Amino acid sequence: MIPAKLISVQTGSGNLQKTFKGSSVTYGEDEILKHPLYKNVLYELEKAGKHIGINRNVMERLRLPRRSIRVSIPVRMDNDSVQVFNGYRVQHNHTLGPFKGGIRYHPGVNIGEVAALASLMTYKNSLLNLPLGGAKGGVQLDPSALSKAELESLTRRFTSELSPFIGPDKDIPAPDVGTNSETMAWMLDTYSLESGFSQTGVVTGKPIEIGGSKGRNSATGLGVVYALEKALEVQNKDISEVTIAVQGFGKVGLHACVEAHALGARIVAVSDRSGGCFNPKGLNITELIHYVEEHRFIKGYPKGEDITNEELLTMDVDAVIPCALDGVINADNMKNIKTSLIVEGANGPTAPEVGEYLSNNGALIVPDILANGGGVIVSYFEWVQDIGWLFWTEKEVRNKLKDIIYMSFDKVWKFAEDHPDKSKGKCNDLRLAAMGVSLMRLEKAMKLRGQAW
Ligand code: NAD
Repeated sequence: MIPAKLISVQTGSGNLQKTFKGSSVTYGEDEILKHPLYKNVLYELEKAGKHIGINRNVMERLRLPRRSIRVSIPVRMDNDSVQVFNGYRVQHNHTLGPFKGGIRYHPGVNIGEVAALASLMTYKNSLLNLPLGGAKGGVQLDPSALSKAELESLTRRFTSELSPFIGPDKDIPAPDVGTNSETMAWMLDTYSLESGFSQTGVVTGKPIEIGGSKGRNSATGLGVVYALEKALEVQNKDISEVTIAVQGFGKVGLHACVEAHALGARIVAVSDRSGGCFNPKGLNITELIHYVEEHRFIKGYPKGEDITNEELLTMDVDAVIPCALDGVINADNMKNIKTSLIVEGANGPTAPEVGEYLSNNGALIVPDILANGGGVIVSYFEWVQDIGWLFWTEKEVRNKLKDIIYMSFDKVWKFAEDHPDKSKGKCNDLRLAAMGVSLMRLEKAMKLRGQAW
């Protein structure tokens, strides 16, 4: 087996460099700064920073991740050949607590994307008042092209390479696109073997039997629905009286549908990668789940009319909830958007300038860092239970999650009222307000720790 080698580590936002395991290459700054998603995050950061008049040193510190790590991961494949994969972990900021963020297995993974998602985790955790910093990781591969044994071998090697940098009080990974509770179980086992004792708090999103939390599977979708309830409240509507269209029927979209349906919302359209279905009387979500379990995809569901994803996004409903991909509400379709409420279940479904256009035209957009925060909130609960040897009931988890989403929404709403846009009056851009709340907490913490002056 070829020994895995840590290729490079870069720390700090300037030229401070520290190398580990014989590496000497500074890694990733140019690729990070030119990545489109990273550029979007920087745009939001600078806009909100200007809005609150942020300290220049704080801004400078947040512009680049604190540490970016790239490792090469050799895997002996089932046919006995050795294939080498690129793995990344970017630790953006840990002013507020240990780094926290998911691990993605996808062919499109690269250092720029991982860095952008890591920085979003910093802002999300700060906004939600969690004692956590922001990180993200990933391996560039198509997980469906590897056998289970190959995936396990890759995950164990990746964990081993990351082990100097992760840990229950350092950096706590979780599942993301292409990974799941089984991946986390392998990570937990490998890290624990290397430590010599069981360390359940090193990852979250684990199976319940080995320290996972009740309520984790539905957490992001449930959080989306709590955010939806609050947004409807400010629009003087009740969830039991509204029509909703949901794009994506995976870990986020499916649970958002189940929870909204349980509260009486009429879900008239749902889609996945195959297309969608529409029923103006409302879809029976339980039946739809059974249909998808049997047929894999929504397309062809007999109790609705087939529609495209594009038709779903431009429907005249009380709320559109994108829970699939980034950039789906964009310059091509923004003029056709009819809903007055978008709740961002996915990360980055609305491009920044498009969000501004829609907000200026009266739509309310609940931004991803607030709307899909349920996942990291319950991950945080899982970590707290692990390190405190506690276990909570599902009811406790749901109630605590509700409190945090409601409180965070109120803070964002109040910020929007208290920080009017000088040229336009009341700030109607909730993304700007959410970033504002997040940055104010970070700025205060960085000043207190002597990281900015
Ligand atoms: P998933 O893979 O479980 O589900 C994705 C869904 O999107 C599937 O139904 C899939 O068919 C659909 N989809 C894929 N391509 C599509 C296309 N071209 N058009 C329409 N639908 C398409 O993923 P997920 O975990 O539900 O994540 C969805 C989004 O939510 C991602 O942006 C992710 O980063 C974000 N997110 C997830 C979590 C979480 O806890 N899972 C937390 C925060 C944010």
